Amino acid sequence: MAAQIIDGKAVGAAVRERVRGEVAAYKAEAGRVPNLVTVIVGDDPASEIYVANKHRGCEEAGMRSSHHGLGGDTSEAELLELVAALGADDDVDGILVQLPVPEQINPDAVVTALDPRKDVDGLTPLNAGLLAHGVPGLVPCTPAGVMELLRHEGVDLEGTEAVVVGRSKLVGVPVARLLLAANATVTVCHSRTRDLAATCRRADVLVAAVGVPELLGADAIKPGAVVIDVGMNRTEDGLRGDVNFDAAVEIAAAITPVPGGVGPMTIAMLLSNTVAAARAR
Ligand code: NAP
Repeated sequence: MAAQIIDGKAVGAAVRERVRGEVAAYKAEAGRVPNLVTVIVGDDPASEIYVANKHRGCEEAGMRSSHHGLGGDTSEAELLELVAALGADDDVDGILVQLPVPEQINPDAVVTALDPRKDVDGLTPLNAGLLAHGVPGLVPCTPAGVMELLRHEGVDLEGTEAVVVGRSKLVGVPVARLLLAANATVTVCHSRTRDLAATCRRADVLVAAVGVPELLGADAIKPGAVVIDVGMNRTEDGLRGDVNFDAAVEIAAAITPVPGGVGPMTIAMLLSNTVAAARAR
């Protein structure tokens, strides 16, 4: 029997609706609405689209947002100066510097310079450390979205075998931390993992965050598994995930499509983080 399709658009819409309510409540208490500021350095077309969607999301949720578009020749010092000014500005609740940045800028230096209280992407060493210690902080948006999907599907993670493919700071590692905090037994795979398919086949919950189109096929899916595909790979045949959907859908119990699975969750969780950041300050 074909797997149930996990509808990220619907779950994302529910999160956005919840955030709208939180914004209204915050406004009633604080007399202002949360304010997100985005920064892009250069003219990467994909970044422009992502950031425009984030601003639309803010507007729909009743939040304010503004944008700094810096030239592609901006120096690291100039960007750090802007990040410091936004950190010091009491009217700013969330700061998002869209990655990638041009090569003259070290992305780690930029992330480290962000005020952790306004780090709505959850990437600063402080927020990553809080997550590692199991202490509530600002959690990266895509991993938070993965957990929200699992919650919404009613997946009881306690004691399950969870396998995460990918160990990036943005997705793989924080997803693994969150699954561990939910009492799953977690294995993290990466490019040096020896028998990837066999390891994945152990997974009751499989999260793929790799960036290789359809890397995981039928031999990587345990019958009855829940499969969350974070991958967003542009191919000649259109957008593809890291999982071969057509193969996996026949074996898994539930699976996210690409597009329409994890993607819509990321902006929803960004909005949620921005309200949380405003409240926490
Ligand atoms: P990344 O930083 O490039 O990390 C990729 C990870 O996959 C690395 O840990 C790498 O291992 C591992 N890997 C690469 N090839 C592999 C292979 N053949 N077998 C096993 N592991 C392999 O990517 P990312 O930022 O985490 O993103 C991963 C994917 O998610 C991308 O497709 C990206 O577009 C997508 N994404 C989607 C959203 C969304 O909103 N849906 C958000 C963020 C990212 P090593 O560490 O050993 O190099």
